[in-house]
Amino acid sequence: MDNCLFCKIIKGDIPSTKVYEDEFCFAFRDINPQAPTHILVVPREHVASIAEAGEKLSPEALHALISAIGKIAAQEGLNNGFRVVSNCGPDACQSVLHLHFHILGGRQMADQMA
Ligand code: 5GP
Ligand code: ZN
Repeated sequence: MDNCLFCKIIKGDIPSTKVYEDEFCFAFRDINPQAPTHILVVPREHVASIAEAGEKLSPEALHALISAIGKIAAQEGLNNGFRVVSNCGPDACQSVLHLHFHILGGRQMADQMA
């Protein structure tokens, strides 16, 4: 989609540090990491958020996204655990309107999620 930051990153029009890609997904390091490991996993197809992912993405793409998270965590050596976050809409402070899963790890996470 024109004017979508993450679509531009997927296309390579904006540089990123890629950590994983497959037919359905692309993953790269967050520019402002909140943990020693902070990776964003996004579908190649533009959907705004997880609220519409179930309707708009194919079962194959949805499966690939979930699988990618596990593969990336293993690749990054997050053997002691990690947190996955997907902010959706204004109440959750979603700032980029292209579905993304944050993978956060490499340190003990806060006990409270929000
Ligand atoms: P949100 O707030 O929508 O859940 O997360 C958006 C994330 O995208 C933020 O963690 C932010 O640091 C990251 N981000 C914003 N712009 C860029 C960019 O140009 N490159 C990368 N790698 N990450 C970005
Ligand atoms: Zn997009």
